[in-house]
Amino acid sequence: MRGLYIHIPFCKSLCPYCHFYSIDDSNIELQIRYVDALINEMQSLENKYFDTIYIGGGTPSALNISVLEKLLYAVDSNISYGGYEFSIEANPESVSDDFVSLIKESQISRVSLGVQSLYDDVLKLLGRIHSSHQAIMAADKILNINKDLNMDIIYDIPYTDNKKSIKTLEKIIKINPSHISAYSYDAEDTGYLKGFNNDDTLFLEVEELCEKNGFYKYETSNFAKIGKESIHNSLYWQGEEYIGLGVSAHSMVYLEKNSRKRYNHGNDIESYIASPNNVENVEIISSSDALLEDIIFGLRLKKGVNIEKLEKKFGKINKNLLNKIEDNIEKGLLIREGVWLKTTERGSLGLEWVSCSLL
Ligand code: SF4
Repeated sequence: MRGLYIHIPFCKSLCPYCHFYSIDDSNIELQIRYVDALINEMQSLENKYFDTIYIGGGTPSALNISVLEKLLYAVDSNISYGGYEFSIEANPESVSDDFVSLIKESQISRVSLGVQSLYDDVLKLLGRIHSSHQAIMAADKILNINKDLNMDIIYDIPYTDNKKSIKTLEKIIKINPSHISAYSYDAEDTGYLKGFNNDDTLFLEVEELCEKNGFYKYETSNFAKIGKESIHNSLYWQGEEYIGLGVSAHSMVYLEKNSRKRYNHGNDIESYIASPNNVENVEIISSSDALLEDIIFGLRLKKGVNIEKLEKKFGKINKNLLNKIEDNIEKGLLIREGVWLKTTERGSLGLEWVSCSLL
């Protein structure tokens, strides 16, 4: 399987905790030049077949509607889409009637809505510009056009009452999307709102509430109704190929003998527009490093990694790595069940630590 990611770097307002590459959306002329560069890059692709497509950002719904229409038309005309999953990200304040009509008529099958909280004071603290009412209305509009809906929330937010995150999740469950992404607040990159005591994390409570209501956990931050897991995002966790178009987008392609190449586009929109086919930070990943990456990313999945399948692909796991895995099993952080290696509950709470210990 291979996925296509298209990055839209524009946002209506820049949230202080955000670590993605994004810029103010008010310059329409810049949006037009950027989408033209994306189309240029798309047309230069050697292999134009993709099983999944994901338009992310930034805020794709913040694009001027005729610019977004042009981008979707270019995808239809240039990409050979396998029909597995076509997602677009949106934020509640820009889910306009025009946006909804365009999505309704398009090949897009899934909308991922950045809700974060259904409490206005928490949204304000996070620097979000939408209200809880706008988020509920936006979810309603998307459900009405029969597209799969993911709703993103954040919990463990410092200086807020944790109960508000649980209440937000309860309200979202009632709205009944097909997928919920729930992220523990992370101030590490930006330093904004530091100070949460990790011992108070809602990690297990969030999992319990979702599972009790039919949203089963399939990845450390992702919950879905059966059959509604994100196919595109699963490609990243399972070491499948992906191509990223646009400023700051990353790609990973297979090379011979199970080695891989990873590269990206750098974080400057004008440089990208000037040469959309220019890539930076090209990194060749050896077969043994690719195996290690597949184990580390695969441990994010609740089902874990299929060791037998990996050994068939990459050959026997080396002794050094096997010892590190055994060490984690002895500590009660990993467990082997048949061909599957996965985290225990304690391991999933300390996933970062487990991953580092395997390096
Ligand atoms: S809307 Fe999303 S991408 Fe844009 S600044 Fe806020 S968190 Fe970042």
